[in-house]
Amino acid sequence: MIQTDALIIGAGPCGLFQVFELGLLGIRADLVDSLPAVGGQCTWLYPDKPIYDIPAVPICTGAELTANLMKQLEPFKPGFHLGEEVVALKPVAGRFEVQTSSGKIFSAKTVFIAGGVGSFQPRKLHLDGADALEDRHIHYRVQSPAMFRQQRIVILGGGDSALDWALALGPEASSVTLVHRRDDYRAAPASVAQLKARAAAGQVRIIENATATGLQVADGRLTGITVASKDGTEHSLAADHVLVFFGLSPKLGPIAEWGLTLNKKTISVDTEAFQTNIPGIFAIGDICDYPGKKKLILSGFHEAALAAFAAKALIEPGKKVHLQYTTTSPVMHKRLGVADEN
Ligand code: FAD
Repeated sequence: MIQTDALIIGAGPCGLFQVFELGLLGIRADLVDSLPAVGGQCTWLYPDKPIYDIPAVPICTGAELTANLMKQLEPFKPGFHLGEEVVALKPVAGRFEVQTSSGKIFSAKTVFIAGGVGSFQPRKLHLDGADALEDRHIHYRVQSPAMFRQQRIVILGGGDSALDWALALGPEASSVTLVHRRDDYRAAPASVAQLKARAAAGQVRIIENATATGLQVADGRLTGITVASKDGTEHSLAADHVLVFFGLSPKLGPIAEWGLTLNKKTISVDTEAFQTNIPGIFAIGDICDYPGKKKLILSGFHEAALAAFAAKALIEPGKKVHLQYTTTSPVMHKRLGVADEN
């Protein structure tokens, strides 16, 4: 069991800033996210799009904002637990027991839910038999590229993940076919050009304007997949593995089962501490709800600051929590690792 003063659920921009605000007050945090990388919506939905309303940052992309938040929290060295969904949370003897999908268990003094619109899950392939083949023959992410060596692979999708894996796995696979439901791609133009060049050289096959309609299975193993074109043509493709990249969709998931007061898909909090109906559990960022709430990154940053002060009072009861400025506070300079520069 991992003991922690503060467990943050969600490593989007608000969860990352929560690490920083807690760190300034001398509290080290652990951070869990179901996705394999930090940044939440900024990383997964719009990494290259410019954001114009971060205070004092006239323009930055989602990826740049995430990189800067990571740099800012560096001195506080949080524990990162990525690629793990928080599946259970219950109060135990004045603390919170929090379990992740990989079986990790935390005992936390305080919990900060910064889950945004919920944990992102891959959109599934809805064909008969697909669920039973998941992780063996039907894949929603590539964990071990080596397993696709000398295999017949069909990749479904037209975004960056689909094209990147078609290009990466192609040279070692026995065949790669990319099936896309349209003929324009959401991937980087350079990847599209490279894939089309490989198709012209006969190294990969591309089937556009087509969708998967059925799976062929023998003795519990995938043997092929049928795809139908918009013009009615059917293709029967021999396949050992199907890689599905239909994007990610958010699900509130287990958060709804923790006894928190909810308003539709958001968690009700007060505006003094951004605390939920369960003392010691805070909610910040897009997932929290209060009168006048605006789902903006800057609102989440303010919520993180106030929640950190309230948590400090719970973690170190009886100690007065003073407001200190980062410009002038020697204690904060020490925590930030800049004491020698001041
Ligand atoms: P998120 O960014 O949603 O991150 C939440 C994280 O929590 C996710 O990574 C998720 O996987 C994780 N999570 C959830 N549940 C669990 C669980 N049970 N276990 C583990 N992990 C979990 N805002 C602005 O202020 N300015 C803009 O210009 C702007 N532009 C936008 C453009 C687009 C296209 C979109 C989609 C949004 C935009 N936003 C903008 C909104 C902004 O992105 C959100 O307000 C912000 O991302 C909220 O941050 P967050 O940290 O609360 O949540």
